[in-house]
Amino acid sequence: MFDKILIANRGEIALRILRACRELGVQTVAVYTKVDTDLLHLRFADEIVCISEKSYLDANSMVVAAKNHGCEAIHPGYGFLAENADFAELTEAAGLSFIGPDAGTISSMGDKSNARVTAMTFGLKLVPGSNGAVENLAEAIPIADEVGYPLVVKAARGGGGRGIRMIMKNSEFEKAFTDAQAESLALSSNGEMYIEKFLDPVRHIEVQVMGDSAGNAIHLGSRECSLQRKHQKIMEEAPAVNIPEDDLQTLLDLSVKMAEGLGYRNAGTLEFLYQEGEFYFIEMNTRIQVEHPVTELVTGVDIVKEQLRIANGDVLTYKQEDIQIRGHAIECRINAEDPETFMPSPGTIEHYHPPGGPGVRVDTHVYQGYKVPPHYDSLIGKLIVHGENRDLALRRMSIALSEIVIDGIKTNIPLHQKLVTNAAFMAGGTDIHYLEDELGLK
Ligand code: ADP
Repeated sequence: MFDKILIANRGEIALRILRACRELGVQTVAVYTKVDTDLLHLRFADEIVCISEKSYLDANSMVVAAKNHGCEAIHPGYGFLAENADFAELTEAAGLSFIGPDAGTISSMGDKSNARVTAMTFGLKLVPGSNGAVENLAEAIPIADEVGYPLVVKAARGGGGRGIRMIMKNSEFEKAFTDAQAESLALSSNGEMYIEKFLDPVRHIEVQVMGDSAGNAIHLGSRECSLQRKHQKIMEEAPAVNIPEDDLQTLLDLSVKMAEGLGYRNAGTLEFLYQEGEFYFIEMNTRIQVEHPVTELVTGVDIVKEQLRIANGDVLTYKQEDIQIRGHAIECRINAEDPETFMPSPGTIEHYHPPGGPGVRVDTHVYQGYKVPPHYDSLIGKLIVHGENRDLALRRMSIALSEIVIDGIKTNIPLHQKLVTNAAFMAGGTDIHYLEDELGLK
């Protein structure tokens, strides 16, 4: 195993990675910025490095810090540099291991239009739409007419909701396409777009896969991520809810086939839209996901430790037959934001009390007195519960949400409280617009 690695991230995921390292006896170098000095994991890291004024995006500084501090590898976490192929390449070029897939895979899956074509070759269904990328409006208009409205235009190099527009009728196409393309150009200097039919109602289901450098690949089951606001996940579950077992098994098998066929190394997620018994591939995320703990709780696999082992060149600890899904897990993303307006709510946490009891896990970097800085994502933690079935998991979540205290800033805990006792959500199978439509949250 590595002796020392650099954690190129902040917040709860940096702490999560640090904990995995400590269990494996790996030393850690944690990074921070001048405006982000209170992070919990900085207290437990073996060494800490100030990386910049404010940004965690400087690939070069990360690699230089890793080299200067004698690291052998870099864990990128999620967000920031995690799906940046240039960063992976820079890391490897400096003689360090990148704890993730190789740069080529990140780049080819990061082009979502290309990923669609690849997924199709492995037998996965696609949302009906364009074949490959479209470069300009003149090329896009006839394709849009053929796909039919409503439709979605997406940037090939988009992500996190950027460069994406839902278009209801053709009179809106020109402006929406141009805006989405401009957004993509500003972010990635890439203007390639693609078009998909807008599916409604639809659910978001995903599959966790892992592969090693010896070419082995397995899945760790499914997740349900249909509770979203503005296409951003708010609550996730494992496994996916109320899906016929055979349909799900076919999806899991095809996902492993794709991971194997790609020679995929490390942890990855295949994302699908689910409608009327069919799964439609939308994208592959080539990194650890925010929602990975629900999978850890139902499989017993420590995904982050497994990531480190794979990057170290070890073969997967598990064979497919070792993976059994036990019970049900739910994760609530706790955001520092107004539960009604969704405006960010940075500031000092005056009181903090975590919930506890059987099957309750809290992944957070906050503590009493912690000051949530205004510069980064509003995610301040994740409350995750596990129970022998979904009913118990829902009940545990409801109890845990009533116990948790985070005072001094606003959080979305009241929204989660409403959701876990909502009859339609409790019954299972609500679609990706349920939260916005039924609860009147736009
Ligand atoms: P990003 O990578 O920016 O998150 P995705 O392609 O993963 O973009 O889509 C984000 C979300 O948008 C999905 O989880 C889903 O809620 C919604 N979405 C994406 N494509 C479609 C589609 N073709 N029809 C309906 N909803 C969609």
